Amino acid sequence: MFHKARIKLTVFYLAIIMLISISFSMVIYGGSITELNRIEQTQRFRRPPAPFLPGIEPDIIQETKGRIVFALALINLIILGVSGTAGYFLAGKTLNPISEMLEDQKKFVSDASHELRTPLTSIKTEIEVALRSKELDLKETKNLLSSNLEEVNKMQKLTNYLLELNKFQSGSGKLSFSRVNLKDIVEKAIKQIEKPAEAKNIKITKKLQNATVNGNEESLIQLAVILLDNAIKYSSQGKEIIVKTGKGTTTGFMEFKDSGVGIKKEDLPHIFERFYRADTSRSKERVDGYGLGLSIADGIAKLNNGSIKVESKPGHGSTFTVRI
Ligand code: ADP
Repeated sequence: MFHKARIKLTVFYLAIIMLISISFSMVIYGGSITELNRIEQTQRFRRPPAPFLPGIEPDIIQETKGRIVFALALINLIILGVSGTAGYFLAGKTLNPISEMLEDQKKFVSDASHELRTPLTSIKTEIEVALRSKELDLKETKNLLSSNLEEVNKMQKLTNYLLELNKFQSGSGKLSFSRVNLKDIVEKAIKQIEKPAEAKNIKITKKLQNATVNGNEESLIQLAVILLDNAIKYSSQGKEIIVKTGKGTTTGFMEFKDSGVGIKKEDLPHIFERFYRADTSRSKERVDGYGLGLSIADGIAKLNNGSIKVESKPGHGSTFTVRI
């Protein structure tokens, strides 16, 4: 599909260049012929002809015209060849980002459909098995429904993630900015993750200093919740999370330090990619997730003119630093 588009674009570029080149050639040819005729006329009407300037023979004029046409045709052919090659190269350059974007989009759709298909298949299978059973009692029905509800919750979480991803990653959404204090942002985020932290008996230590920056409050809280949620998810029972906020030289920062499973060096460059999940199969607990949280967090940081940096040591923990 892109090869065809590239050829079309090349032809389009060529048509424009050749149109200009042929128009110029015609102007040059017209000018040269007028000049030749003028010289010939001047010579013919000069009486008596100057002895040192004999009249120009018509066959010489004809030959000169032929030479001009040949030279112009040759120049146009060279322009056609050079601009054809350059046009093909430029068309490739123009179409490359679009082609990459489409590939990326295709991968995203396929990953998202795959993630949605898993819970859907599970729900379908459970319902089919239940329908085939002749003696389905109330207890079994309730079990089936609660299992289905669990899968539906997973799908709901995934669709919410996808919508957020669309909102924060496409770069299309402009956020409304105001002066916000990162200390308040983190306090609000901690309130939202108190329950899962308590459930794992994880202590959150706050070392918060005022840091007022220009940003979008709602999205920054969401960013802090994602990083705190991960810190809890990837830490075992009873561990500690240290959260800091403060002022850098030109920016404000939020830091989330956990002493959980950590991230392997080879996974670090990929963790912000959509649907990327580092292999945690060696850790004792299976951690639920879709690999979308950090790409949303990264999108939020960028929309707030900020960045996220991560340092991690497997087995010792990770530190995520957000600068706004
Ligand atoms: P999810 O947590 O749903 O898998 P994320 O995009 O939030 O998706 O994270 C991507 C991957 O980065 C995770 O699968 C995990 O392997 C790794 N990761 C993120 N945060 C942490 C953390 N605090 N500690 C260890 N690994 C982490």
